[in-house]
Amino acid sequence: MRRVRFQWVCYNREQRGGSVSTATQELPRTFGALRQSHFSRERYASRSVKDELRQNLICKLQRGDALFPGILGYEDTVVPQVINAVLSRHNFILLGLRGQAKTRLIRMLTSLLDEAAPFVEGCEIHDNPYKPICRRCRDLLESLGDETPIGWLGRDHRYVEKLATPDVTIADMIGDIDPIKAARRGHDISDELTVHYGLLPRANRGIFAINELPDLAGKIQVGLFNIMQEGDVQIKGYPVRLPLDLMLVFTANPEDYTARGKIITPLKDRIGSEIRTHYPAALEQGIAITSQEAWLTRPSPVEVVVPGYVREVVEQLAFAAREDKRIDKRSGVSQRLPISVLENVVSNAERRALRVRDDVAVPRMLDLYNALPAITGKLELEYEGELKGGDTVARELIRLAVGKVYDRYFEGANVAQIVQWFDLGGSLKLDENLDSATMAKQLGGIQGLMEKTKGLGLSANEPDAVRAAAAEFVLEGLYSHRRISRNEERGFTAEEKKREPPREESGGRPERPVRRQFN
Ligand SMILES: [Zn+2]
Repeated sequence: MRRVRFQWVCYNREQRGGSVSTATQELPRTFGALRQSHFSRERYASRSVKDELRQNLICKLQRGDALFPGILGYEDTVVPQVINAVLSRHNFILLGLRGQAKTRLIRMLTSLLDEAAPFVEGCEIHDNPYKPICRRCRDLLESLGDETPIGWLGRDHRYVEKLATPDVTIADMIGDIDPIKAARRGHDISDELTVHYGLLPRANRGIFAINELPDLAGKIQVGLFNIMQEGDVQIKGYPVRLPLDLMLVFTANPEDYTARGKIITPLKDRIGSEIRTHYPAALEQGIAITSQEAWLTRPSPVEVVVPGYVREVVEQLAFAAREDKRIDKRSGVSQRLPISVLENVVSNAERRALRVRDDVAVPRMLDLYNALPAITGKLELEYEGELKGGDTVARELIRLAVGKVYDRYFEGANVAQIVQWFDLGGSLKLDENLDSATMAKQLGGIQGLMEKTKGLGLSANEPDAVRAAAAEFVLEGLYSHRRISRNEERGFTAEEKKREPPREESGGRPERPVRRQFN
């Protein structure tokens, strides 16, 4: 096998984020100076955006840089495929459901662009000075030569994003032409001077991202394909030559994308890589993402402490929703759900702490039910779910999630003493207006309950807010497994069926789960 090895130089030495740094001041400002610099004709004339992305990616890989910092859970799945797509100089599409960080990942591609890129100053489509495609720049370079002014583009200026909707027109996307002017020019109708450029040409020499590609009208897809394929396109029947230099990236919902007739075949054919995204595979991954994204470190007079089991319940809620038959699978359950829920849960704890003048705000299970506004709007319900209503579905999901997390800590634990306390007629109403000291005292009155909180990793002298929250979690877990009951008026009580005859066993566990609607 013959081995070929190229001379390789990494120009982008340092990693500076986004915009053009102070180094810009030293960048050449005229075409003559540009030619003498390391942005030489030899290096730049035939280097496409895809070459540029590939070269910088190779340098990053060689240095072992972190490529997509903050994108969690894709290290072994999506990221390697994106790398392969860029190395292959492919246009690619990310297929995935809502809230899978598709857009975020695409935006991070800009970090693979040069820190600064030269263009013919004033050009609407950022012409490459060595290879201008618009008439204005060709004329300018001809008349001014080495004196032609050169501008510089930062990474952020080389990224254009568009959400596809059925009403996007050719004019929006590609451009418009003044037919009267065009007609007057006679044979010169393809003259670019008469074109009002759309988004795509304005993204020239950068990355153009289209979200929800299947929503784009067929006519526009054809236009897109023509530009990718031939570098020319018809606008209002006039042929316009636009050999654009672009990296095209798309996103779509997998079902929409594969549905027959949604995407024209030749366009599909030109998308080099089709990459599937996914929701976090393990609960811990989800928790890590939610913890990173949720706004929890807030300026506040109260200290916010979020126990691990609360984070687990919130994440479990999203996992449960993704599996629930009553929720539309094609639409998915966005990672934004647990993020918003956790934010709302913390806010409710904060609100309570402020009202009762506690110093520490610790979210309780009760706060989850107050986070329904962060849940219901994010669930697309199937018919069965619609019948039940979003609120009921959300409550059932919370209960299910609490039960699962409860089992992680207390599977097989002996809770007979606590259950018995309720069976003997005990009840406890959780009052939102109680400060945590009073709350902890009340919960402490239930035999064996506080002792169980050790299972959650609590030590002997935790603040009252932490102890109260933990004890309430145990009760909510028992409620979730129908060992005890809970309703609006009386709070936690004995599971109702057991107070009715026949009562064979006193203080025993109910063998048959009893179905009952609460709240
Ligand atoms: Zn130009």
